[in-house]
Amino acid sequence: MNDHQLLRYSRHILLDEIGIEGQEKLLAAHALVIGAGGLGSPAALYLASAGIGKITLVDHDTVDLTNLQRQVMHTTARVGQPKVASGRAALQAINPEIEIVALAERADAARLAELIGTATVVLDCTDNFTTRHAINRACVDAKVPLVSGAAIRMDGQVAVFDARSGATPCYACLFPPDQQFDEVQCSTMGVFAPLVGIIGTMQAAEALKLVAGIGESLANRLLMLDARTMEWTAIRTTKSSDCPVCSGPSGH
Ligand SMILES: [Zn+2]
Repeated sequence: MNDHQLLRYSRHILLDEIGIEGQEKLLAAHALVIGAGGLGSPAALYLASAGIGKITLVDHDTVDLTNLQRQVMHTTARVGQPKVASGRAALQAINPEIEIVALAERADAARLAELIGTATVVLDCTDNFTTRHAINRACVDAKVPLVSGAAIRMDGQVAVFDARSGATPCYACLFPPDQQFDEVQCSTMGVFAPLVGIIGTMQAAEALKLVAGIGESLANRLLMLDARTMEWTAIRTTKSSDCPVCSGPSGH
């Protein structure tokens, strides 16, 4: 780190948990943020300000006026732009010293596997089960830790799925792919603006902890927030012995 970086990251370096060594791990890391919306905005903003050396944003969508109530990485002036271009502008304005890769595409399973193979940590900031399962499978295959967030109406949840450890559950252990869920998406439903900020910021915190090797991650736990009462519920999660993704003959 040069003198300028020592100043920029001084409040991290002063932390016993991070220090120069931890900050260097952050600077050497590549975070893949899939979804540049309500969760991806705060997550990516904090990863950039904290000095994650390379951030790849993936999102096929463009900025819409209805996004601005909660997707704080975007601005009124950037309505109509690809979300990843708008996001890159926001992240570069905060930290021009890191690399931002903007991919305006809807990544399919093959593309996800390719992208996830190069990542230190993956943040699932998407809003549909099909993509969530594809991201999970690619993370299990590549043994890359996954920080998963979700928020709808007044309810949020956050969890870590760390495939580097064979003992912890994956996303599919908790939400079996063959099970039917009522799919509710922010694109059509209401969502409380700061809720995505709370959950997305927690995703950034967990990603930074995983990269720097700090503390205990949310692997084995699912945290759920009811923003009406601001009450958190932690559920202990376990690996499913018949999970089609991480257990059995084709699993790990
Ligand atoms: Zn599993």
